[in-house]
Amino acid sequence: MGDNDEHGPSHPSRQEAPMTSQDDERLMSLAVGLAWLCPPSDAAYSVGAVIVAADGTELSRGFSRENDPHVHAEESALRKLAADAPGLAGATMYSTLEPCSQRKSRPRTCTQLIIASGIGRVVIAYREPSLFVAYCQGVELLEQAGLTVTELPGFAARAAGPNRHLAAGGLPGAILVTSYMIVLLPCATGR
Ligand SMILES: [Zn+2]
Repeated sequence: MGDNDEHGPSHPSRQEAPMTSQDDERLMSLAVGLAWLCPPSDAAYSVGAVIVAADGTELSRGFSRENDPHVHAEESALRKLAADAPGLAGATMYSTLEPCSQRKSRPRTCTQLIIASGIGRVVIAYREPSLFVAYCQGVELLEQAGLTVTELPGFAARAAGPNRHLAAGGLPGAILVTSYMIVLLPCATGR
């Protein structure tokens, strides 16, 4: 990865925000904090999302069930922006969980909404476990649409924290995070 001194790329591909790994960690920490604000649910994940412009300016943020019992974090953050909001080209969506690729409560999935928005990059902490849907294809579909997807596995356990009651009820104490990493979620913590 060398320096890129080109300006005004002529190709129509999606722009990618020049965020550093430190930016990624700071913004994912913010998203994890938002996930803890979600009204608890036994039927849906608690997720936090932040949208940041290419220059690092925060454009929007959201969390699950923020202002509507069915709203998802990414959807909530996008809904606060005009469809043609300047800055979405080259923007990055930070979401604690892989964007959904199937949903019953809305005609469009978060994956579809993100692709339609013009956002160029999505950063997630963990992939959707096979709990409510058999196989979430959010990452695959985003990449197929030309977006860059970055996973931050170091945040997986923290990002899954607000959902540990789902693991206790639906899985044997663990959420399958990726094919190679399992985060054990404690059934009880000292309060
Ligand atoms: Zn969603």
